Amino acid sequence: MSSRASTIIFRQGDTIFREGEAGDHALLIKSGAVSISRRGREGEVPLGTCGPGDVIGEMAIIDDSPRSATAIAAEETEVAVIKRHQLLDRLDQADPVIARIVRTLMRRFRGTEAVLLAEGDSEALRQGLTAPESNPTAAMGAYGDLLREREVEDAFAEGQFEAFYQPVVALGGNSPTGFTPVGFEALVRWRHPSRGIMAPEVFAHLAEKSGLIVPLDRHVFGLAAAFLNQADASLEGEPMTMSVNLSSRQFRDFGIVTGVEHAMWNAGLDPRRLQVEVTESTLIFDSSTARMVVSRLVDLGVGLTLDDFGTGYSSLSYLIQFPFSVLKIDRSFVDSVLQSETSEKVVRSIVGLADSKDLGTVAEGIERTDQQNRLRALGCRQGQGYLYAPPMLPDEAIAWVRETRNH
Ligand code: C2E
Ligand code: CA
Ligand code: CA
Repeated sequence: MSSRASTIIFRQGDTIFREGEAGDHALLIKSGAVSISRRGREGEVPLGTCGPGDVIGEMAIIDDSPRSATAIAAEETEVAVIKRHQLLDRLDQADPVIARIVRTLMRRFRGTEAVLLAEGDSEALRQGLTAPESNPTAAMGAYGDLLREREVEDAFAEGQFEAFYQPVVALGGNSPTGFTPVGFEALVRWRHPSRGIMAPEVFAHLAEKSGLIVPLDRHVFGLAAAFLNQADASLEGEPMTMSVNLSSRQFRDFGIVTGVEHAMWNAGLDPRRLQVEVTESTLIFDSSTARMVVSRLVDLGVGLTLDDFGTGYSSLSYLIQFPFSVLKIDRSFVDSVLQSETSEKVVRSIVGLADSKDLGTVAEGIERTDQQNRLRALGCRQGQGYLYAPPMLPDEAIAWVRETRNH
C-alpha cells in the first residue's frame, strides 16, 4: 500500500479493510478492482467486485457498526478517502426526509442481513427484525416536515390560498397627498379555517420544498390578472400595473411563459401592465435556462423587477445579462436611510445606477413620512409600504385607490 495526498494505492492482494473492524472512513474507488467477501459457515463467501466510481465502506460510517465485509484489492487499486465527518456532514445537510430515508434503508438492510445470517437461530432472527430506530427524535422531525408539506398541499387543493394586494405609489408629481397610486403587488396569503390569515413566512419554505410553489405562484398569477380586470372596471384614471413574485423554480422550464400568456389572454390584459419580481438568487441557478425563460417573458411585454436589490450579490453582471426594467430597493436600506450614511449612499448609488440604465426604482417598506421625503429627495421614483397601505383584500385595495385618487 502507498499513499499520495488524499488517495491510497493498494497492490493486488492487499486488504483494504476487514469484516468486524471499526470503520472511520469510506473509500471512493478511482481505478482498479476490489473483491468484497464475508465470513460464512464454510469460510469466506465472495459477494462481488467493485470498480471505479463505486464507494465502499460507507455503511459502517452511516450507522456506526463494525465493517460488515472484507475488501481486498483484486488488482492495483487507487482509492480516495472520504472521512467520517465528510460523509455525515453531507447527510446532515441533505433534506431531512432524504437523510431519514437513507438511515431507514440502512436499518432495514441490516435487519434483513441479520435475518439471512441467522439461518434459523430464533434469537438472532428476533433481534434482526426488531432493530430499534437509533434516533427517534430526528425521525419524528423528518416525519413532521412531511406532514406539514402535506397540510399545505391539502390546503391548496381546498382553495385556501388567496392574494392580497399592496399599492405601489409614484413619489413624484404634485398630488396633495405627496403620492399617486400606480400599481399593486400581489402577495399570497393562506386563509386557514382555524388559524386565520397567514403570511408566506409560515408556509413558503414548505411549498418550495414540496414543489407546490409552482402551481401556487400560477394560482396567485391568475387571481392577480382577474383582480386587475376588476380594478379596471371599478376605477377611473390611469390603469394600474400589477407585480407578482415568482419563485426560482419557475425559471427551470418554460411552463411559466405559457401560464402567463394564458392568464393575460383570459383576462384580456396587456402583458405590459405586468411586472414579475425575482431575486438575484433566482437567476443564479442554471442561468442559461433562466435567461431564456426571462427573455420569452420580456418578449411577451412583461416587465422584470429585481426584488430585494442591495441584499444579494448585487453583481452588475446581472443587470447587464438580464433585461430588468425596475430595481426594488430592499426594506433594510429604507428602514435606515435617515440614520445610516451607508444606507443613504447605497440608495443614492442604486438610484444613480437605475437612472443611467433608464430603469425604474421602487423603495419598499416605507413606514414614515420622513423616510418617504428622503427617498424622494434621493431621486427614488416609486414607493410601497405601510405608510400608504398594507397588503389588502381585493375590494379594500380598490376602495383605497379610489379614495386616494379622489383626495
Ligand atoms: P417581498 O416580495 O419582498 O414582499 C414585501 C414584503 O414586505 C411583504 O411581506 C409585505 O407584506 C411586507 N411589507 C410591505 N410593506 C411593509 C412595510 O412598510 N413594513 C414592513 N415591515 N413590511 C412591509 P409578505 O406578504 O409576508 O411576503 C413575504 C415574502 O414572501 C415576499 O417578500 C415574497 O418574497 C414572498 N411572496 C409573497 N407572495 C408570493 C407569491 O405569490 N409567490 C412567491 N413565489 N413568493 C411570494
Ligand atoms: Ca416582491
Ligand atoms: Ca422585496
